[in-house]
Amino acid sequence: MIAHYFTVDVEEYFQVSAFEPFISRAQWHSYESRVGLGVEYLLEALDEHEAGATFFILGWIAERHPDLIHRIVQAGHEIASHGWDHARVLDQTPEEFRDSVRRSKALLEELSGSPVIGFRAPSYSIVRGSEWALDILLGEGYRYDSSLFPVRRNGYGYRNGNRSPHWIDRDEGSILEIPPATLRRWGLNIPAAGGAYFRLFPYGLVSAAIAQAELNGTPATFYIHPWEVDPDQPCVPVPPVTRLRHYAGIGRTRARLERLLGEFRFTSIAEGAGVSGR
Ligand SMILES: [Zn+2]
Repeated sequence: MIAHYFTVDVEEYFQVSAFEPFISRAQWHSYESRVGLGVEYLLEALDEHEAGATFFILGWIAERHPDLIHRIVQAGHEIASHGWDHARVLDQTPEEFRDSVRRSKALLEELSGSPVIGFRAPSYSIVRGSEWALDILLGEGYRYDSSLFPVRRNGYGYRNGNRSPHWIDRDEGSILEIPPATLRRWGLNIPAAGGAYFRLFPYGLVSAAIAQAELNGTPATFYIHPWEVDPDQPCVPVPPVTRLRHYAGIGRTRARLERLLGEFRFTSIAEGAGVSGR
């Protein structure tokens, strides 16, 4: 039985990219922190199913919640970087991006006591034309990236990207790419890795994608956010489409997640892919 990759993007409900036009970074401190509740729930669910996971954590969160990093490490999971303050790669200059991945890596290593080798860009924002970000990751000592979503979407997605874990050769060296799961149907790559696709669409979408990867003998990558398993989070007043994307299906996420953890075996990327710090 293949061990798939269970990944968590550790951020607050008010830091999601969809809320960016409505909540500025300067306002973040005024919102109630809920991230610990979601992480605790996820740690329990993973423990119950003897599953391992990779937690991609914002530097902003690590700075304010060092205990959370200790809890995740104690539970035996992998710590990786989700950047500093959830700025999308395309909204950053290469210098800003380098600073974000360097600072978050240094802080996460200090708190966890282990090398941090994995990165996931906020909103999968490494797209065609911004591969320079991979060179910066290599230069900063990262070994793998999980930011290239091989789908066609407005604002994100890596068109015609490889759907399975693969090595990408760059001037700076080779980086292991771990794309989020997609389901191949009707000649299309259908996003099926988690997030809104897990909450809004039938459960069978994600499980079919994982089963398809299993048939091909490759691990699939699932992702979730702590706020998605926190049905009691404060409701932020946002327009209807944004509201649907964020809140719809939140009441059923925990039950679906437990079903998924029961049906498939999961581990962290570092362990499953056999990559470690130099
Ligand atoms: Zn994120």
